[in-house]
Amino acid sequence: MRVTPQRAHVWRVLLESGGHLSADGVWEEVKGVLPGLKLSTVYRALEALGEAGLVVDSRLPEGPRIFEAHPAAHPHLVCESCGSISHLEPEMDLRLLEALRASSTGFEVQELHVVARGTCAACAGQGESEAES
Ligand SMILES: [Zn+2]
Ligand SMILES: [Zn+2]
Repeated sequence: MRVTPQRAHVWRVLLESGGHLSADGVWEEVKGVLPGLKLSTVYRALEALGEAGLVVDSRLPEGPRIFEAHPAAHPHLVCESCGSISHLEPEMDLRLLEALRASSTGFEVQELHVVARGTCAACAGQGESEAES
């Protein structure tokens, strides 16, 4: 991959946020460093980083594509109450990919869009304390 300043900044924004950002979200951050940057440039940088295996994008049932500095496709846990997006243990991501590979001869997984919806631990805890008081 050719490293351009745009790509380097997009990569850094994702790495430093440590979370899931939409292309718009990345754009907002990078614009602070590179004023005049176009959203289409951000998309191209995200595609290039994706092809280099540095960034994955995921699709949630609602909302835009989300990007993150993560090397492999993985499932997401989305809280219906606060909207937080979390992950399984990294070990489980690998096991899932291995299981997919093992049960589909010769199939290479490039994208995986698995979303579990529910209530995160923090929100579930809040509900309990409200019930107690
Ligand atoms: Zn993720
Ligand atoms: Zn929550």
